[in-house]
Amino acid sequence: MTARNNLRLVCASANPGKVAEMATLLDGVVELAPRPTDVPDIDENADTLEGNAMLKASAICEATESAALADDTGLEVDALNGAPGVRTARFAGVGSSDADNRRHLLTLLTGRTDRTARFRTVMTIVRPDGSTMTVAGVCEGTIATSERGTRGFGYDSVFIPAEGDGRTFAEMDATEKNAISHRAKAMTALLEALSMR
Ligand code: IMP
Repeated sequence: MTARNNLRLVCASANPGKVAEMATLLDGVVELAPRPTDVPDIDENADTLEGNAMLKASAICEATESAALADDTGLEVDALNGAPGVRTARFAGVGSSDADNRRHLLTLLTGRTDRTARFRTVMTIVRPDGSTMTVAGVCEGTIATSERGTRGFGYDSVFIPAEGDGRTFAEMDATEKNAISHRAKAMTALLEALSMR
């Protein structure tokens, strides 16, 4: 890919859904190189999204000696006092699948009418000179009462963004999700911080 700017970032994520969105959001602006397959998994054991994004970006920067970009995302459900938050990927237990996590969330919210929630994405760049940059993006919404839609990934089929028309993210195409998502907002903030917008 030819980028307009002379910046190449190695992506710290291996999650295909997330990487596809990041690549689309950066397309033509910044070159996004794939995460090297020989770098071991990073233990995301920080207690904040910021901490985990920093762990991931630092590890990939160190391994590749190149600037690295990490994204850490959490779902905050008001009726659950902000959970799962930093535990979003393992909400139903260590090793749980996306489907397990969605089921667990819907079960916990059974009968609840207060279903407001938000996705929060933190993005961090770490460069070999030790400089770092961190931004965030938030998408407000509600948790559906059952799964709807087949697109996207993760919790998309149970999240109804407030800026949408009542459909879940999984009922939207990629362009619609990328216009309003937490990840798109974080990416806009990142490009602004890099003076690329
Ligand atoms: P992580 O940031 O890769 O650690 O992801 C945390 C959790 O949030 C995982 O369960 C992902 O599937 C989920 N997730 C991250 N981004 C999104 C999104 O845009 N839509 C739905 N689920 C997401």
